[in-house]
Amino acid sequence: MADCIVIGAGISGLSAAANLAESGHKVTVLEASPKLGGRTYSFKWNGLKIDNGQHLMLNCYKDTLNFLNITGGIEKTELKNILEIPFVSRGGRIAFLRITEKFYPFNLLYSLLRFNGFNLRERIKILALFVKLPVINPEKLKEINIYNWLKKNNQSDKIISNFWEILAVSMLNTPIKKASAGIFLKILKTVFMKKDNYLFLLPSQPLDEVFSVGCKKYLIEKGCRIESSEKVISVNFEKDKAVRIVTNKNKYPEFDYVFCAVPIPALQKILPEHIVEELNINELETAPIINIHFKLKENGFNKDIYALMGSKIHWVFNKKTHLNLVISAGNEFLKMNDEEISNFATNELQDYFPCFCKSLITDFIVIKEKRAAFMSTEESSVIREKIKENIGNLFIAGDWTNTDLPSTIESAVKSGRNSAGKI
Ligand SMILES: Cc1cc2nc3c(=O)[nH]c(=O)nc-3n(C[C@H](O)[C@H](O)[C@H](O)COP(=O)(O)OP(=O)(O)OC[C@H]3O[C@@H](n4cnc5c(N)ncnc54)[C@H](O)[C@@H]3O)c2cc1C
Repeated sequence: MADCIVIGAGISGLSAAANLAESGHKVTVLEASPKLGGRTYSFKWNGLKIDNGQHLMLNCYKDTLNFLNITGGIEKTELKNILEIPFVSRGGRIAFLRITEKFYPFNLLYSLLRFNGFNLRERIKILALFVKLPVINPEKLKEINIYNWLKKNNQSDKIISNFWEILAVSMLNTPIKKASAGIFLKILKTVFMKKDNYLFLLPSQPLDEVFSVGCKKYLIEKGCRIESSEKVISVNFEKDKAVRIVTNKNKYPEFDYVFCAVPIPALQKILPEHIVEELNINELETAPIINIHFKLKENGFNKDIYALMGSKIHWVFNKKTHLNLVISAGNEFLKMNDEEISNFATNELQDYFPCFCKSLITDFIVIKEKRAAFMSTEESSVIREKIKENIGNLFIAGDWTNTDLPSTIESAVKSGRNSAGKI
């Protein structure tokens, strides 16, 4: 069995390590940060354990569900299926998108037809586009952005901002005038054209419990070594073979394979320039995700999740102990300070939920993840398609590799599994 080193213990590195360990390989994981999980992490705040940001998964995250099964993460959480999504308008009107089993395979169409967030004419326009999905070829939409594609398909600005934008921006973390319609269409087909794929899964426990705690235990039981707070400085090559890994603490001269599961900027620092060039790795444009957490005196919200129609805050997650508001692709919020963002979010909450009052908020925290996810644009697809997956004994993983998925947990898990499967 081979001696493998995995660099980076985000979801892609953990997935690579778990798959390698499962196949009986000897694995050492080197992680720069003291914590595991990378961009999915939790921390203590004000007596609560909160996540850096709500991570929403879908029932079509098959690789993720498999990873959680292998590593025991699934036992640590209840993954709630959300069958009813309240769409809230300014002023407090709530329309429920209720997913039913009735009339399968036409159940989604039936649900949309009954969705009274829109008048009948508008619902028919949305339905008409869903009905067309199976026959549209995503390859033909490469050059067009989501907004223009929706306009071409008879969707009004109101339908776009109150429905499609909420879906698209949170799936792709990219403004709809920039995001590729081809990528969006591929996702819509995967998500909406297979039974139950579109069901949201919400972890009931903090992210670290679900993804890293179980996985760490699993890896240790399998005899793996996990070194956190150990930053890789360089991977040295002789010809096309990685021969030495140098960290801030150690040198590793003995291994068969190395798996680099770090973001592109980190990879560019640790690999020699000619290897980065040979792998065809170029920078991908990223966008931030802003999460605002409000601790409340009393929580009068009774649903787990709310979509806000026409707001820059796309989702409100009710975590019982606190609220978590999410702004995807929130570039314009980076220049605001935390107080300003909190005030904006408070005003939006009062506008959308008239019985909510700002005096209920006892504390807040704003988490700006500046490079939360790469943007799903046409340029990013072209860059990702050209990336080589390995050179000699070096393999790469990460949500940004060519998985055909946007920057998500599922892409990270899939990339880790793919890379481990190559040896
Ligand atoms: C706020 C937020 C919300 C999100 N919401 C969702 C969501 O709802 N649904 C969803 O599916 N996805 C979501 N995502 C995306 C998801 O979190 C990422 O796609 C995924 O976590 C990426 O994992 P990764 O392993 O590819 O990269 P990373 O998580 O970035 O992991 C890379 C790891 O490498 C380590 N590293 C870097 N350099 C070195 C070095 N030199 N030596 C050693 N280690 C190093 C880093 O410390 C890190 O641990 C969200 C992301 C954020 C930030």
